[in-house]
Amino acid sequence: MGARIIDGRAVAAEVRERVRRQVQEVVERHGVRPGLATVLVGEDPASQIYVRNKRRLSEEAGMVSIHHDLPAEATQAEVEELIRSLNADESVHGILLQLPVPPQIDGDAMTRLIDPAKDVDGLTPLNAGLLLQGLDGLVSCTPAGVMELLRAHDVELEGAEAVVVGRSKLVGKPLAALLLAANATVTQAHSRTRDLAEVCRRADVLIAAVGVPRLVTAEMVRPGAVVIDVGVNRTADGLAGDVDFEAVKEKASLITPVPGGVGPMTIAMLLQNAATAAERQLAARSPR
Ligand code: NAP
Repeated sequence: MGARIIDGRAVAAEVRERVRRQVQEVVERHGVRPGLATVLVGEDPASQIYVRNKRRLSEEAGMVSIHHDLPAEATQAEVEELIRSLNADESVHGILLQLPVPPQIDGDAMTRLIDPAKDVDGLTPLNAGLLLQGLDGLVSCTPAGVMELLRAHDVELEGAEAVVVGRSKLVGKPLAALLLAANATVTQAHSRTRDLAEVCRRADVLIAAVGVPRLVTAEMVRPGAVVIDVGVNRTADGLAGDVDFEAVKEKASLITPVPGGVGPMTIAMLLQNAATAAERQLAARSPR
């Protein structure tokens, strides 16, 4: 029997609708429209498309999109100055620095400069630390999107064996922390893991966030497992995930396709973070 295929576009549309209502409530309560600032340094075509989509969808959710384009040869001091001014601007509730940045700019250092209250990507050390301690902060968007997909499909995480392949600070690490917080037993695999196939076969919930096309094959999947594919790889025959979808879907109980699985969730969760960030900042500023 084949797996149920997760429709990430449908779940993302539900999240965006929820965010739209949240934004409306913020406007009614505070008389202020949440502002999401995007910063793009250089002209990388993929980044331009991502930023354009983020801007369009933030406006559709009722937010104000404030965009700053900096030239590819911008200096670190210029990016720093822009981030500091956005931190100080009360009409800006969320700041998104599109990564990667050109090589003369230290992306990690620039991320650290963002006010954690406005860190809608959830990548500042404060928000990453809050997540690790199980405390409330802004959570990295792709991992938050994976959790939303699991919730939307009533996947039981309590006591489940969850295996995350990948340990990046953008996806793998925050995802492992979220699964642990949901009481799964979490194994984090990576490029030095000795017998990856054996580790993956333990999983009730298997998540691949690697960047290697079709690394996870059917032999690595336990029958009936839930398989979430975060990978987005450009190959000669188009986009491919980190999972061999055609073979694995015959073995899993639930699986995400690429595209149309995790991808649409990332922007939806970014909008969710922006609405929540605005709500918290405005509540903190309003007289009691
Ligand atoms: P990354 O920073 O390159 O991290 C990749 C991770 O995979 C590393 O921890 C690496 O291990 C591990 N790895 C590499 N080769 C491996 C192998 N053969 N066996 C086991 N583990 C291996 O990538 P990322 O930013 O986490 O992204 C991962 C994938 O998700 C990429 O395809 C990316 O395009 C995609 N992505 C998608 C979205 C979305 O919105 N859908 C968002 C973000 C990323 P080491 O730590 O040992 O090097």
